[in-house]
Amino acid sequence: MGSAPVSEPLLRLRGVTKIYEPDGQKVVGLEGVDLDIHSGDFLAVMGPSGSGKSTLMNIIGCLDIPTSGSYEIKGIPVSRLSPEELARLRNREIGFVFQVFHLLPRYTALRNVELPLLYAGVGREERTGKALEALRAVGLEDRRNHLSNQLSGGQKQKVAIARALVNRPSLLLADEPTGNLDTKSGDELMEILTRLNREGTTIVLVTHNPAIARRAKKVVTIIDGRLVSKEDSRELRE
Ligand code: ADP
Ligand code: MG
Repeated sequence: MGSAPVSEPLLRLRGVTKIYEPDGQKVVGLEGVDLDIHSGDFLAVMGPSGSGKSTLMNIIGCLDIPTSGSYEIKGIPVSRLSPEELARLRNREIGFVFQVFHLLPRYTALRNVELPLLYAGVGREERTGKALEALRAVGLEDRRNHLSNQLSGGQKQKVAIARALVNRPSLLLADEPTGNLDTKSGDELMEILTRLNREGTTIVLVTHNPAIARRAKKVVTIIDGRLVSKEDSRELRE
């Protein structure tokens, strides 16, 4: 990913529908979503609670598959990838940041950031070097030896971003990353994301907050599983 020609979208969703059937009852997660995301985009996804934002993120991040419709990454249908190819894609090309931080509380910040590399079998020296670099990128190098439960919410989220970045993914997916943060930490986080995007990372960000969404380049709104609008983020009103 990352080097797709300008004309061809990095990600292409066509008629993507997701139906959940938890106990025989059908629940619509997404319905007929058409969406192109280009390399270098910074897209905000807005919409009320339960409208399908996380469902969309899970499909884009290959954590879940659509019930119908097609999803292509760089022109390759994701449904045709083998489980190994999918895992490789997720590990190497996609970074995830969630509203809850999912850090291991008794591990240091550095160790938390190293984990994806540990799972990928990267040797110790390279692991530490890359993790330090990622912590530096979010301004937390000096907190590397703090246990994650000794960090503030904003710092935890920055560690989570460093962890998502440590493999240098070309696509960063952030599902309400500022949802649990105060305004100042949220602003700092958006500054980090904006810089990463300027440096070439494609970003898809879910948020409830119009002030946050306005800092993306484009905004789409989902209501009841349907994509109802696509606009330039500068057109967003309060
Ligand atoms: P959002 O992130 O916008 O709050 P979600 O994508 O989480 O919305 O959910 C969209 C709809 O799908 C909701 O009605 C939700 O209850 C339902 N849903 C989401 N995940 C599941 C699941 N694993 N099983 C059953 N229903 C689900
Ligand atoms: Mg959600």
